[in-house]
Amino acid sequence: MQKRSDFLSHYDNEYLNNLASGIADYYFPHGRIEPEIISIKNNITFSYGEYGACFDGLIECEEQSFHIFINTDRLKHGYSDRARFTFAHELGHYFIDDHRNALLEGRSPSHSSFTGFVRKNRAERQADYFASCLLLPETRFKAFCFRKKFDFKIIRDLSKFFGVSISATALRFCAIGNHPIMVVYSHNNNIKWYWYSEDFPFKALKYGKDRLPEDTVAGEYFELQRQPKTVQPVFAMDWFNIWNSSQAELPFFEQCIFNGKHCLSIIWEE
Ligand SMILES: [Zn+2]
Repeated sequence: MQKRSDFLSHYDNEYLNNLASGIADYYFPHGRIEPEIISIKNNITFSYGEYGACFDGLIECEEQSFHIFINTDRLKHGYSDRARFTFAHELGHYFIDDHRNALLEGRSPSHSSFTGFVRKNRAERQADYFASCLLLPETRFKAFCFRKKFDFKIIRDLSKFFGVSISATALRFCAIGNHPIMVVYSHNNNIKWYWYSEDFPFKALKYGKDRLPEDTVAGEYFELQRQPKTVQPVFAMDWFNIWNSSQAELPFFEQCIFNGKHCLSIIWEE
């Protein structure tokens, strides 16, 4: 279960965002960021291959030269959103000073990475955060949202425009978007992690980390196999731990992305 406090320090976030934004704006001042090109411009070689189930991506350093491996066995193909994110994550291990120095000095074994915010390890979290800041640069992201009334379409449009998965885009929106949202990722009727904007009105889920509430769109997906494609109304008490009964029926919206045993919920106040 991911809690805000398990994540990176404020200093980490600032440092990584500045570092990644600088690189994004330098190489790609407009439009989509291409990790391959950044790699080429920095003399980092790379290869795509079918490397089994051991890792999503890997960066190796031999005699001062870096090489990135991207595993298409786990990432469908080299141009999938996940492959791009993994590539950006591996670039993080190169651009973050501590990571690069550790690789250069042989202090760190080559990083084998599973990307997408699943690792607890701090270096992996830093590389994930670097990747999201690189692929979704703050200034452009904010300009894209500016003066738009929030609905799920903004997240989907941002995801398409920048070539980043909906889940990574929604997490970035929690950090720098212009409307408070909560993002809950469930797998097989269990909550895996959740995240929310600083100004989201509720911070605690109804059953905490223990159980996915049944009267939510995500809960009904697993319990009743319902899969609404459009946004659905829910009440605050369906999702959140309510202390004050006057808040129980506050109206919220939930939109889900369903994928087999996976469900991603985006929740926002009406
Ligand atoms: Zn890694």
